[in-house]
Amino acid sequence: MKHYAVAVIAGDGIGPEVMEEGLALLQAAAEIHGGLAFETSTFPWNCRYYQEHGRMMPEDGLTTLRQFDVILLGAIGDPSVPDHISVWELILPIRRAFQQYVNLRPIKLLRGLESPLRCKGHADLDFVVVRENTEGEYSNMGGRLHEGTPYELAVQNNVFTRYGVERIVRYAYRLAKETGKRRLTAATKSNGINHSMPFWDEIVKEVSLEYPEIETRLTHIDALSAYFVSCPETFDVVVASNLFGDILTDLGAALVGGLGLAPSGNINPEKNYPSMFEPIHGSAPDIAGTGTANPIATIWSVSMMLDHLGERELGRLVLDSIEDVLAERRVRTPDLGGTATTREMGQAIREQLYRRGG
Ligand code: NAD
Ligand code: MN
Repeated sequence: MKHYAVAVIAGDGIGPEVMEEGLALLQAAAEIHGGLAFETSTFPWNCRYYQEHGRMMPEDGLTTLRQFDVILLGAIGDPSVPDHISVWELILPIRRAFQQYVNLRPIKLLRGLESPLRCKGHADLDFVVVRENTEGEYSNMGGRLHEGTPYELAVQNNVFTRYGVERIVRYAYRLAKETGKRRLTAATKSNGINHSMPFWDEIVKEVSLEYPEIETRLTHIDALSAYFVSCPETFDVVVASNLFGDILTDLGAALVGGLGLAPSGNINPEKNYPSMFEPIHGSAPDIAGTGTANPIATIWSVSMMLDHLGERELGRLVLDSIEDVLAERRVRTPDLGGTATTREMGQAIREQLYRRGG
């Protein structure tokens, strides 16, 4: 029996609602496999915790998480706590402390779903975005001056290190090669952002020399956003800085059915620290408590977690089950135009998993 220790941070809003389905699915997957056990420990670190303790997690929170094989996160954020606090005191410290420098975000139109792009189908919408996850525009360096005067100003520095850029670019090329992909697109903006982006481009070009079999394109972020819509079929692997990757992937999610479906992995490729898996959506305060959030983004994130742990067959089975439910059983939560609840969707996917694997 292989044992995995999983730290669970369900978070705020719809976080706990979708996490319940993610965890039920994980236990079902373990049961089907037979030789796996997931021991989950849940941590109540969210905005309510902040209200009570004045911090998003205890002082030794990172030390506690360090002992786990992986982390599952629901979503963080509540209108009662400024977003920069909930993000900077919980999610970003985890990503940074554990060197989760890859944010892996597949953009894939699942079987049974249609894209809002009228002429694009499953063969056109199947690529992956590799977002840099530890530096760049999310730098925490800068400041504000002259508050309350007409001369008030805010400065936010972008930080790009050779080490940080090289490792994300290398990861993207390696991923392209390992998955048999032909093309790598790097998001840039070297015409307007004249220090960091030319530096980023230079490093992409240097690393590209090691992968002559892969076609490299450097595309300005504004044009790239338009190409996501007009010709998504021209992408295999897209590598982008922290902010550009964040924006591109919400757009990408919208092309394949919306935020309710989009998963992500915050990955430490060297596996010397735990990686963290989470839906890319937030806590959705507008629908929290209604029991109608789509749990697929979380369940797909669990599938990515299984891949990361080396349980690829099981990860594939979970994704196949999600697709069966969408394509054959036609279950739909309200974000997909249906009336199914979070529970009903989660339950249908588990049933399908047992059918396929049991
Ligand atoms: P959001 O992703 O929470 O919601 C955007 C829209 O998508 C909303 O209309 C919401 O109802 C819908 N949506 C999101 N997930 C859904 C799901 N699973 N099923 C159905 N519909 C879904 O983004 P927001 O409104 O900009 O942010 C709300 C809060 O979440 C903020 O506090 C923000 O900081 C936080 N946030 C957290 C994370 C994270 O935890 N990693 C990511 C993004 C935003
Ligand atoms: Mn985002």
